[in-house]
Amino acid sequence: KADDTLLEVNNIEVIYNHVILVLKGVSLKVPKGGITALLGGNGAGKSTTLKAISGLLASERGEITKGSIQYHGESTQNRSPNDLVRGGIIQVMEGRHCFEHLTIEENLMTGAYTRSAAEAKAGLEMVYTYFPRLRERRKSQAGYTSGGEQQMCAIGRALMSKPETVLLDEPSMGLAPQLVEEIFSIVKNLNEQEGVSFLLAEQNTNVALRYAHYGYILESGRIVMDGDAADLRENPDVKEFYLGVG
Ligand code: ATP
Repeated sequence: KADDTLLEVNNIEVIYNHVILVLKGVSLKVPKGGITALLGGNGAGKSTTLKAISGLLASERGEITKGSIQYHGESTQNRSPNDLVRGGIIQVMEGRHCFEHLTIEENLMTGAYTRSAAEAKAGLEMVYTYFPRLRERRKSQAGYTSGGEQQMCAIGRALMSKPETVLLDEPSMGLAPQLVEEIFSIVKNLNEQEGVSFLLAEQNTNVALRYAHYGYILESGRIVMDGDAADLRENPDVKEFYLGVG
């Protein structure tokens, strides 16, 4: 279903600080309405790939030196992160990044800067429907909420822009297994019920492949394998190297 492709990354090379080559020709596709996982160990280049797509590379002195990225068939190069958010694509950065001194609700509202007041109100209701914990904690200062609640807050804030595609970086990081499941099942609900497409970067291959439809495995800046999530889960190499099963 080639025409279902929303986002296409074609053979990109990324260099930091003009010298450090981190992505050595990465290609991937994100179909409309799918959950696509980008897997791989520490330092493989997952975050870099997401930042190349969302336009956040520039602020880290990173540069796409080869290849191209298309969203709805149009090049994303030379578009600012803000412009891409208006275009429907937003990244949730690794490490949560909530404003600690603001309440959960104030944090969520900061994500609505591209929207009208009425849209923001409807967006807030939508976020609270999917994240009942955030509704409960809406008056709490974010810095005093748990790690899981802060991760939910970061995802909720991104949803306030009414994105078509969310780039989710390492949602499981630092969270207890039960919370990881809770967050992934909300991602699945958002995908199925709101039609949000996801590209998620994860080191936790096990959980990612249970929720994603398709996966890519990145090693040292190159995609070494890709396939349907169900097939990857059964693949002997994936089992041995990424699922911790001999
Ligand atoms: P992690 O889960 O640890 O973030 P990752 O797969 O997301 O891993 P990246 O964060 O994309 O990997 O990093 C890939 C490589 O690029 C690493 O070797 C890292 O040290 C390097 N790198 C990342 N950001 C920068 C930067 N701003 N300047 C220079 N090198 C960087």
